[in-house]
Amino acid sequence: MRRVRVTAAVRAAVLVSVVALACSGRARSGPAAGGERAVPLNALILTIDSLRADHLGFMGYPLPTSPVLDELARHSIVFEHARSPGTWTSPSLISLFTSLFPPAHGVEGRGVVPSPRLHTPVEAAQEAGYAAFGYTLGENYENLGFAPIPDKDLVRLLRNREQGPFLAWMHLRGPHLPYSPPMEVWRQFWPGGTAPSDEVRARLRRLMAEPMVFKGSWTAVAGDAEWIRSLYDAEVKAQDEAVGEILRVLAEQRLDERTLVVVTSDHGEELLDHGYIGHASTSRDSAPYEELLRVPLLVHIPGYREGARVGAGYPVGLEDVLPTVLAAIGVKIPRRLHGRNLLPLVENPREWRNRPMCARATPCGWQCENRAERRRNEAVVDGAIKLLRRRDESGATITEELYDLSRDPGEHHALPPHAVDASEIKRLRAILDRWGRSARWRPAPRPWLAPKS
Ligand SMILES: [Zn+2]
Repeated sequence: MRRVRVTAAVRAAVLVSVVALACSGRARSGPAAGGERAVPLNALILTIDSLRADHLGFMGYPLPTSPVLDELARHSIVFEHARSPGTWTSPSLISLFTSLFPPAHGVEGRGVVPSPRLHTPVEAAQEAGYAAFGYTLGENYENLGFAPIPDKDLVRLLRNREQGPFLAWMHLRGPHLPYSPPMEVWRQFWPGGTAPSDEVRARLRRLMAEPMVFKGSWTAVAGDAEWIRSLYDAEVKAQDEAVGEILRVLAEQRLDERTLVVVTSDHGEELLDHGYIGHASTSRDSAPYEELLRVPLLVHIPGYREGARVGAGYPVGLEDVLPTVLAAIGVKIPRRLHGRNLLPLVENPREWRNRPMCARATPCGWQCENRAERRRNEAVVDGAIKLLRRRDESGATITEELYDLSRDPGEHHALPPHAVDASEIKRLRAILDRWGRSARWRPAPRPWLAPKS
């Protein structure tokens, strides 16, 4: 995105509103904060499916996968340690848009939608005068407050939009399996710059064609990981170019200086880090390792803290995105959300209190059948220690793994239980148990599955 010009008056208005937020920790009620701008900010949220944080230039990746996002990051607040609360699309995105953890919104399988009784952050924006448009992903996505983007065509919507502020969500699926990037883009990422042999091509053909590669169905041989990464990186690069097109249309419509832009992901992607490829819905047996839970998060607020970085010592979650967006556009944040407005963290990290970060999902995601839907893999990270727990259909713990992420960020050497104080393990278990009991809203059956009355 080109460098935005911001008038002194607008910059002052943003600062006034943000300082107020930092002091109160909550959005100001009514239109006050947003009203300080002559024109209210729009908000555009781009979610990129299966996008790993550590494969992006602005997150330190050495290959040129993301020139567009790198440039946007230079004008955004980058949260270097953002986490998803799930390992497949629906629970994660529903957490993003309801600002509730998966056990609370309850959308952890097929055939359910968030409760219509929920007052979502999207609805709060609507009530404040925002038109809300969202990408419809089918099952699971009712009751969030979005009207569908006509024909899922965001560019056309931006070109033909009605007057008035908007909150729009677009979901992009480039890095999701199958990995089938344009040849000219893949060529840029060939390991060693040399073309794959016929044998390698034959092995990769399946990944380039199939949306699912179940765990156990791929026996990796030497060199596979490099080639799989090259395909994935090329998909990321192609997606980056598509994001560039959206940003160009924003600028062409003169919306760039008054549109907040968020770019994030629903979850990461396993690329043989732990022996399989994909995530819960595509592998049918995933575990919440960091390559699945760490997601990129950048928030571009025109004229505000452009280029700021919130360091890895401050973990934030997808559930924090909407409260932050609402605070930035001056819309009152609904009560009883799990997410937090992150602007006070940006303003004054020393006053910020970290919290343990939890995640859970079925190991098989969208592909779960019958009783497997009740299985849960869970994780909690507090400081450097991570507890990963697998539970069966009855809720009983099957296995536990402990990691010290400061020494073993790739989670390849589980700590023996005696390496961690027993009381610490007990404390982490209690955090996960409490988090898992945060259920508040019984999800509703999908309307078209509801029994006729
Ligand atoms: Zn996904």
